[in-house]
Amino acid sequence: MTKLNGSWVETANSPDTDFPLNNLPYGAFHFAGGDLRAGVAIGDHILDVTALEKAGLLDLHESNVFSRGTWNDFMALGSGVWEGFRGFLTSALSEGAKQQSDFEPHLVAMADATLEMPFSVTEFTDFYAGRHHAFNVGSLFRDPANALPPNWLHIPIGYNGRASSVVVSGTDITRPNGQLKSPDMDMPVFEPSKRFDLELEMGAIVGKPSKGRVSVQEADDMIFGYVLLNDWSARDIQAWEYQPLGPFQSKATATTISPWIVTKAALEPFRSSTPAREKELLPYLQEPGPMLYDIDLEVALAPEGKKETILSQTNYNVMYYSAAQQLTHHTTSGCPMRVGDLLGSGTISGPEKNNRGSLLELSWGGKEPLTLDTGDKRTFLEDGDTLTLRGVARGDGFRIGFGECRGTLRPAPPLD
Ligand code: CA
Repeated sequence: MTKLNGSWVETANSPDTDFPLNNLPYGAFHFAGGDLRAGVAIGDHILDVTALEKAGLLDLHESNVFSRGTWNDFMALGSGVWEGFRGFLTSALSEGAKQQSDFEPHLVAMADATLEMPFSVTEFTDFYAGRHHAFNVGSLFRDPANALPPNWLHIPIGYNGRASSVVVSGTDITRPNGQLKSPDMDMPVFEPSKRFDLELEMGAIVGKPSKGRVSVQEADDMIFGYVLLNDWSARDIQAWEYQPLGPFQSKATATTISPWIVTKAALEPFRSSTPAREKELLPYLQEPGPMLYDIDLEVALAPEGKKETILSQTNYNVMYYSAAQQLTHHTTSGCPMRVGDLLGSGTISGPEKNNRGSLLELSWGGKEPLTLDTGDKRTFLEDGDTLTLRGVARGDGFRIGFGECRGTLRPAPPLD
């Protein structure tokens, strides 16, 4: 198993940090009133790469890569530059590195910074690739004997979502108003959603564009990194609107991502295979190697002013389709992919009840309320609730963390 790489940044050597030298995730930040800057997390600190670039201390042959304070321009330089830059940073931050005195003035305390969107999301597609989630939802909405749609074992199902409502961790979420109708109502009503939910997902970020169809291996090579993703979902709006074209306003309110892009390079030691196929996949979807990752995931809910309860714990390695397979399928139509495309994995639920990645499943459609550690009961989210997703891959004496993916639900806007 891979071991901890020692750094001259002391806090990066703690077994409890999300950000050891092995990780080096990419983010964006600012100080009160300051410009947006690109940064790399290391221990309790952020290395200000926008400042390092200005000072001529980066080993990049391009200029102004980080002047905009996001990672899109860097991603567009290609995988050779991704690897070279990671190697340069690893060496410069290692114990005994000659760059220590030059770099130290450009380390800032993470606690003093506000984290922003690490990249500009060009398009957002959300998938439905978790076997247990699809089975649970199919059992709730249809028939447990035919819970999986007939295409599910053959196609990584998805829909084109909204890039405009993807927000960074820490952004408040406003409960949506929408058109609702239950089977016992004659007419629909326009009201605040009463069944507002979370979905625990991973997001894959495309760093290399494509034109035309790509293979699964080419798709894997196009992926720059991963974030945690909460696909906020209004179940009552969804249940009424989704037939036959799928989710629309129920999923458009907001999607929260964690602030640090954990690169595919950092996750390399944690690759994991998809489970055994129940039906053989068509050749274009077959994986040449392991393309999931062993990442422990959890969801916590804190009612306003109260302590959190862990709702669920699961692992990304339970998914039926990898992001590379989803990306391959996405290009079969000839659909071009762009730098900054974001792919949601689909809700990650494991086999047991405490592995479920949504309240829809945890409360079984609202029929089995959960009791939180505080004594509060929940079926769906209440105003003031804070949801936090966390994810870590565990190495020998170190962990690769994502930082928190957090959002607090605020009341719906007034109706006219
Ligand atoms: Ca979703």
